[in-house]
Amino acid sequence: MTHYDVLVVGAGTSGMMAAISAAEHGATVALVEKNKFVGRKLLVTGNGRCNVTNNRDKEEIIHHIPGNGRFLYGAFHQYDNYDIMAFFRSHGVALKEEDHGRMFPTTDKSRTIVDTLKQIMEDMKIDLFLDAPVETVLYEDNQAIGVLLQDGRTLSSSRVILSTGGRAMPKTGSTGDGYAWAKKAGHTIKPLYATEVPVTSDEPFITERVLQGLSLRDVNVSVLNKKNKAVISHRMDMIFTHFGVSGPAVLRCSMFVHQTMTRDKTEEATMAIDSLPDVSLGELTQTLERLAKNEGDKSTKNTLKQFGPERYILFGLDKLGVDSDKAFKTVTNQERAAIASYLKDFRFTVNGSLPIEKAFVTGGGVHTKEVNPKTLESKKMNHLYFTGELLDYNGYTGGYNITGAFITGRVAGMNAALSALEEKA
Ligand SMILES: Cc1cc2nc3c(=O)[nH]c(=O)nc-3n(C[C@H](O)[C@H](O)[C@H](O)COP(=O)(O)OP(=O)(O)OC[C@H]3O[C@@H](n4cnc5c(N)ncnc54)[C@H](O)[C@@H]3O)c2cc1C
Repeated sequence: MTHYDVLVVGAGTSGMMAAISAAEHGATVALVEKNKFVGRKLLVTGNGRCNVTNNRDKEEIIHHIPGNGRFLYGAFHQYDNYDIMAFFRSHGVALKEEDHGRMFPTTDKSRTIVDTLKQIMEDMKIDLFLDAPVETVLYEDNQAIGVLLQDGRTLSSSRVILSTGGRAMPKTGSTGDGYAWAKKAGHTIKPLYATEVPVTSDEPFITERVLQGLSLRDVNVSVLNKKNKAVISHRMDMIFTHFGVSGPAVLRCSMFVHQTMTRDKTEEATMAIDSLPDVSLGELTQTLERLAKNEGDKSTKNTLKQFGPERYILFGLDKLGVDSDKAFKTVTNQERAAIASYLKDFRFTVNGSLPIEKAFVTGGGVHTKEVNPKTLESKKMNHLYFTGELLDYNGYTGGYNITGAFITGRVAGMNAALSALEEKA
């Protein structure tokens, strides 16, 4: 039976990079994947265009990994987003930058990235086991020694890297298998939750689908804790749906909905929309006063349509009990104040999110305190390493998770190879 220096479980984003890195550092490598082909999740990222990394500086990248991003500093110092770009460019992949620093292959096809990784693995003679689900990781004398496949075969290795991903979008193969093997090795698994996911609400205006399908552009969306303090705000687009709210601003807020509910020990959290983030409440109040004075004969709905989509305005007026057809000059001071408050700070309760399976990313995972941040090696089990979404860190979409996956893969692969070769020497 072949014995490998390094065996990687999971040919996803981080696993392929880990295998390549280990091979580049001189190790014999096996990469074991349950799917019939590699990089299934990577193929669907960035709407099938593969948001391969982000062009922002280190601090900004870490800032966009709000779930435990600081854990990644140790790996980032060894390999960063610019190294990822250099890696792909050196293998003939031209990259381009789009909004918010997002990097894509110029072909606009994820296939370019996955095929490049495949080719490198082939060139480096990495043994790829496809359609080969791992049943369990084998441990002996407090060290990882290989894996047992579901078909009964065992593969032995000096180092094992777990790159099995989280539980988001399980049809890509990421069904969370690695958590049980980490637990078996003595690790704590921080509770899993959905992140980068639409948020649910049972407010009547949601269940009655009053605003379903309405998008608000460039608004400020916040999550408030039980003291009504904003724990996070994101200024981007959002959309009302039949179950709650979604869109880029909401996806970014989603992990904070879970965190706030957990911290506050409540079944609900509050979200707030500032639909006019460029004007203060004071300025808006003055503008409304001026309009009432100078153009007060116009109907209220016509006067207010400059402040947002008509559906949003009409919903607000209905909620406040203000007749939308009456002349704006007849709106009372109190009603005007309530309208200004609605436009600047519309609050509604939310009660969670769609499940992890419908999320882009899994929050929680292998406790990062139990993993060496410089090598990605387990502190609980010798010769065992972790990469990617299996670990308890999570970023916003925009290339931040992929960056984390490539970087942890790179560093784990290198360290696993170096330590296996040192032992052999
Ligand atoms: C639709 C979608 C869009 C996304 N868009 C973005 C984006 O634009 N930017 C961004 O930063 N992130 C994005 N992400 C998140 C990002 O793709 C992931 O965080 C990243 O790919 C995780 O890499 P990974 O290596 O940890 O896991 P994965 O890439 O999920 O790889 C895990 C691999 O392990 C294999 N595996 C699992 N169990 C076993 C087993 N028992 N035996 C053998 N193999 C096994 C799986 O089949 C899979 O191939 C997106 C995610 C989704 C679902």
